[in-house]
Amino acid sequence: MSGAVNFKECGSVLVTGASRGLGLQIVESLASGGFSPGKIVATARNPERAQKLQELASKHSNIHVIALDVVSQESIEKAAAEVTQLLPEHGLNCLINNAGISVSADFNTVTAEKMIETFHTNTVAPLMVTKAFLPLLRQAASRGGAGGSRSMSIQRAAVINISSVLGSLELNWKAETFNKWYPYKASKCALNMVSRCMALDLEADGILCMAIHPGWVRTDMGGCEAPLSPEESISSTLSVIGGLTEKDHGSFLDYTGEVLPW
Ligand code: NDP
Repeated sequence: MSGAVNFKECGSVLVTGASRGLGLQIVESLASGGFSPGKIVATARNPERAQKLQELASKHSNIHVIALDVVSQESIEKAAAEVTQLLPEHGLNCLINNAGISVSADFNTVTAEKMIETFHTNTVAPLMVTKAFLPLLRQAASRGGAGGSRSMSIQRAAVINISSVLGSLELNWKAETFNKWYPYKASKCALNMVSRCMALDLEADGILCMAIHPGWVRTDMGGCEAPLSPEESISSTLSVIGGLTEKDHGSFLDYTGEVLPW
């Protein structure tokens, strides 16, 4: 698997929302898959309550658990300062903005509060987290990727936004009879635009930015009817992320590497 080889050459990865679901699976797969990055920074808003993550960290010395509530600017800045201490020389190679919420509401039940809460976590937070970690991403990008390569890759520096096919404008047309995801769909659609804007702004630094849909997965959010297990989704998603190149900068892909329509 190309992703396996490539993650080995990635010095550090930071994941938000690593307490459970896909974030926890990303940390577990990175730590135990035989292609482990040098340092895996697993962040969670309440690390003391994230028992499975703590157990995993006790088994793998390259997992570093750090508190990060993505909707708190104070928490973001504190986490960025801690990670700067942890990665003093090489900076951060790969930031995975995974934390997310799914608030369901249809046209009749949607409220301003539900829209704003979902936007804060799913759209605004990935942008604010990326801004706070930019000095570390720049530091990694300036060193170059494997062998000092100047090509864009997660081995150099990258921002990966975990988005959703539900955020696709083109695919969300007359597909559903019961349209109950106003906050979630709108927030992921806007996250795609944030990814695209960041791709423009960070290109000069050599930082790859893209959005990826992990598939419909059996987590607390995805529910038990979803076709994919977290292991299946993340093994494939990490393989795609591990193999990203310049041509994927600014893209919206799914977990198999297929290009998705905006
Ligand atoms: P879960 O609901 O299972 O887990 C969500 C994670 O996000 C938890 O770790 C949660 O932490 C964390 N989180 C939520 N709010 C915050 C916050 N303010 N600060 C820090 N962490 C926070 O969801 P999934 O694992 O399924 O989803 C992960 C990502 O994948 C999301 O962005 C989601 O939109 C996306 N996705 C998921 C799909 C699926 O089918 N599962 C499909 C497409 C996209 P805590 O434990 O503290 O609540």
